[in-house]
Amino acid sequence: MSEGFLLVLSGPSGSGKDTVINQLLKRDSQIVCSVSMTTRAPRPGKQDGVNYFFVSKEQFEENIAREEMLEWAKYGENYYGTPKSPILQWIAEGKTVILNIEVQGAGKIKEKMPEVRTMFLMPPSVQVLRARLKGRGTESEEEIEKRIAIARYEISHAYDYDYIIVNNRLEDAVEGVLEVVNRNRAMLRGEAVNNSYLFE
Ligand code: ADP
Ligand code: 5GP
Repeated sequence: MSEGFLLVLSGPSGSGKDTVINQLLKRDSQIVCSVSMTTRAPRPGKQDGVNYFFVSKEQFEENIAREEMLEWAKYGENYYGTPKSPILQWIAEGKTVILNIEVQGAGKIKEKMPEVRTMFLMPPSVQVLRARLKGRGTESEEEIEKRIAIARYEISHAYDYDYIIVNNRLEDAVEGVLEVVNRNRAMLRGEAVNNSYLFE
């Protein structure tokens, strides 16, 4: 039995998803992260095909029509979506495939593929979230406030997820995710695991 599985990671913008995923990729060679497609403009220094495939609205809509997306959603004014093709191959190879996606997309994937595991990365507070978004320096004040408004909606869905990890100290959050990953791998290998988690 393959220990490959899909791990959906959601959380408000600024909650630390990219930062945590970068650490996970360094720490565990069996973890891979899907590269999403988006119509939003690249942040300075970001290369096409590394964090995202940056495309036009027309190109994105063509991909939807050709059924090449596993899921997609609108976040603010932009489209974001997961290209289907690499995902199933990685799962078959035994990889832990991380999808960094927002809550509507997470809900759609869970409906299509009920076996996925879902995790919500929670900021310690809205104040800390705002400070981290300001500190990142990649969005205007106005865009930050839009993202905070979306964050309040997203946080109201946190209990729909299998796991909630609070990103207070980065190292603790990364350890928390790795523990969940290893427990799921053990379950997929058919090993008994101590069922002390509330949501398992
Ligand atoms: P997201 O991908 O969820 O939008 P990022 O990974 O870009 O969030 O993190 C937002 C900002 O917060 C970045 O500047 C990042 O360096 C910082 N950050 C992430 N996690 C922590 C943490 N545990 N403690 C302090 N700062 C953090
Ligand atoms: P950002 O603009 O900060 O990179 O991403 C904005 C939001 O879009 C984040 O919540 C991120 O998780 C989400 N997102 C990124 N890629 C995808 C995707 O492929 N599908 C969906 N549904 N959401 C995505």
